[in-house]
Amino acid sequence: MEADEDRPDCPSWCLTTAEEHAEDDPGTWLHEGPRFGLLRTWWLEGATNAFTATVEDAEEGVELAADDLRQLATDALDAAIWLDRQARTSPAEHGVSVVELVRRAHERSTRSA
Ligand SMILES: [Zn+2]
Repeated sequence: MEADEDRPDCPSWCLTTAEEHAEDDPGTWLHEGPRFGLLRTWWLEGATNAFTATVEDAEEGVELAADDLRQLATDALDAAIWLDRQARTSPAEHGVSVVELVRRAHERSTRSA
């Protein structure tokens, strides 16, 4: 069965609601990943496939004491590790088992023969 191109194939961790995805540009999905303290993580799926993090919106800036900064450093490291791990897995194959990938490859080769 072909994937519906009007709907994103969200990874299990995606926090973006269907309503929010409906406002994405076709073929480009912005999936929100887990939060790490003040940091929010994102996967921009599309031509520019990118995993990034942003700091929580704060209209007047965020005032951080030493303890807050240490927490931010810990959270930033966790976020970086998460981003690296997600980026290493092939986006097109999120949630697809190896057995399924082999089956698809076989299907393609027999269909074109
Ligand atoms: Zn999503």
